[in-house]
Amino acid sequence: MKIAIIGLGSVGSAVATAVKNTGFVHEIVLFDRDGVRARAAAEDLGHAASFGFDVKITAANNYRAIRGADTVIIAAGANQKPGETRMDLLNKNADVIRDIVPKIMANTDPKHVKIIVVTNPLDVMVMLTQKISKLPAARVIGTGTMLDSARLRTILSRQLSVSTQSVNAYVLGEHGDSSFVAWDSACVGAIAINDFCRQVKVPLTQTARNTIEHRVRNAAYEIIRGRGATWDGIGAAAADLLRCIINDERRIMTVSSVSGTGANAVAVSMPRIVGRDGVAATIMPKLSADEKSALKKSEKIIRKNYDAIIK
Ligand code: NAD
Repeated sequence: MKIAIIGLGSVGSAVATAVKNTGFVHEIVLFDRDGVRARAAAEDLGHAASFGFDVKITAANNYRAIRGADTVIIAAGANQKPGETRMDLLNKNADVIRDIVPKIMANTDPKHVKIIVVTNPLDVMVMLTQKISKLPAARVIGTGTMLDSARLRTILSRQLSVSTQSVNAYVLGEHGDSSFVAWDSACVGAIAINDFCRQVKVPLTQTARNTIEHRVRNAAYEIIRGRGATWDGIGAAAADLLRCIINDERRIMTVSSVSGTGANAVAVSMPRIVGRDGVAATIMPKLSADEKSALKKSEKIIRKNYDAIIK
């Protein structure tokens, strides 16, 4: 399986490392508009690969090298500086997507290629990528709130002293400041989270929920403050999504994908079954009235920002 990664900054490099470590791809092509950086990344990762799975890692000078790629991951574009929101990147990164996507489409098979979008503001970039590529919505997949859901599961797992693998809880909506936790459908194992908390005697009060939600929403800001950027979490998320596609695993993931048509089209994160052809189905979880209005709010924000860049 051949894949390509566009953009080899902190995130693209972390994605490449995580993908290499899955052992599920035999060739990774790296492209960055900064060719020196892409070549250096290919060298470094190539050396790292000699300690693990046999993966061919090359840097490309042009997009012809991505021919034959099954999936292309877009990790290029400006990242948030301390204090910036994801939406602050809107115009800069829309230009990056406008530059990259036609080149991907000119060099891949439109009947089969999947594009994974990582660039922020994620949901708007998914919509723009789908519009420019003209690919079916199912094959343009944003990592969405996979990372936010991982952050939620990590916090809950620590508080409840149970494996993250047993925490089935989602962050939905925008991958951004209007994301929300779908508490009404959250389970530990197959047990509703409230029942579980009662049994293990860790009260999940409204204040506790608010604090957890705040920590999830602000995790990226905290990491950026301490580390300058975030990369390990998203690297692992993108590689996990790719693995799910390549192996046709049909796991449920909170990815972003365009639903609806015309003026009603919008990309948000919902629980979706992901397999070989991208998004196979979207599953509507049980949502409280507040959660339903949070979802509507996310959709409105994303659509408004998308409309602002589509002139
Ligand atoms: P970075 O500045 O370290 O790297 C960006 C790279 O993109 C650079 O190497 C640059 O040369 C390249 N690039 C820019 N324009 C390009 C173009 N037109 N063609 C090819 N390459 C181009 O940034 P980063 O920290 O790696 O972040 C990359 C993106 O990922 C940002 O938009 C960031 O917000 C986003 N991100 C998303 C998530 C998520 O959960 N979806 C998490 C973290 C970061």
